[in-house]
Amino acid sequence: MSPRKTRSKPTERRLARLNWMEMGEWVPGEIDTVLVPVGTLEAHGILSLGTDNEIPSRLGEAVAARVNALVAPAIPYGVTASLGALAGGTHIPTAPFTEYAAAVFTTLTHQGFRNVIALNGHGGNTAALSDAARRVHEQTGAYVAVFDWWRECQAIAEATLGVPGGHAGADETAAMLAIAPEQVFADLWDPSLAFEHRPSLTAYPTPGSLIYYAGKRSDPVLSPKKAREFWERVVEHVGELLEDLVVRWDREGYPAPRSRKAARASGNGGAGGANGHGSGPGTGHGTGHAPPRRTRK
Ligand SMILES: [Zn+2]
Repeated sequence: MSPRKTRSKPTERRLARLNWMEMGEWVPGEIDTVLVPVGTLEAHGILSLGTDNEIPSRLGEAVAARVNALVAPAIPYGVTASLGALAGGTHIPTAPFTEYAAAVFTTLTHQGFRNVIALNGHGGNTAALSDAARRVHEQTGAYVAVFDWWRECQAIAEATLGVPGGHAGADETAAMLAIAPEQVFADLWDPSLAFEHRPSLTAYPTPGSLIYYAGKRSDPVLSPKKAREFWERVVEHVGELLEDLVVRWDREGYPAPRSRKAARASGNGGAGGANGHGSGPGTGHGTGHAPPRRTRK
C-alpha cells in the first residue's frame, strides 16, 4: 500500500494534537518514528515538580522535524524511590512502571511506528525503561531506544555553564530557564539546598532535592543568555545524535521480515534492500536509496 500523499509534512509534531485521520495519513507511510518523553513528578531544588516531564517534552518537540518523528504525550509518573517522600513526589514501583512503559511502546508499534525512542528526563526511570525497551524489541521486532538527555549533555553543561550537571543543578536549571522560565523559582535559592551525593550513603529519601556528584557543586546559573546557549547546544547535539540513530537503524537494520513486508507492499519484490519501507520524498531519511552517511562526533 502506497502512502496517500495528499499533503506535505505536518507542521504539528505533537501526536496528541493531530486529528486521527491526519495521523493515519502520515504514519507509517511518511513518519515511522515516535519520541516518547518520560519523566516524573519530583522535588527539584528551585525548579517545578514537573521539570523531568517538561524538558524531554520540549526537547522532543525541538528535534522532531529533524528526526522526522512525532512526539507522543509524556509518561508523567516515574520511578521516584529516592525523592518520592519529599513534597510533591510521586513514585511508581519498578515492576508496574516497566509493564506500563512496555505497554505504551507496544501500542505505539501497533499504530505503525517502527522506531520508538524514549526521551528520558529522570534518572530513576533508566533501568526500568531499558528493560521495557529490550522486551518490546524482543516481542515486536520494533526498534526501541532509551535516551537520557542529561547524561549525554554533561560536556555542554561544563562548556556553557562552567559547572557539571546535577539533579536540579545547573543543567536542568538552564534548560528550564530557556524553555519555561516561569517554572524557575529563583527567589527560593539557598546554597544549603545542595546535597552532595556520596557513593557510601544510600538514604531513602535522599536528604536534598538539588544533588551534586563527585564533590563538584552544580549550583543554578541564573543567566538567561547562558541558559539559551546551553539549550540551543543541547537541541543541536541531541537532534544530531537521534537523527544519526534513525539513519543508522534504516541503513544497517531492518532485515526480514519487515523489509520483505515493505517490499511486498510496494510491489517491487525486494528492491530497495534494507531500506524498503516506502517513505515518500523529502522525509530526510529512508528515501528509498542509501540514506546519507553521517559522521558521529
Ligand atoms: Zn530532574
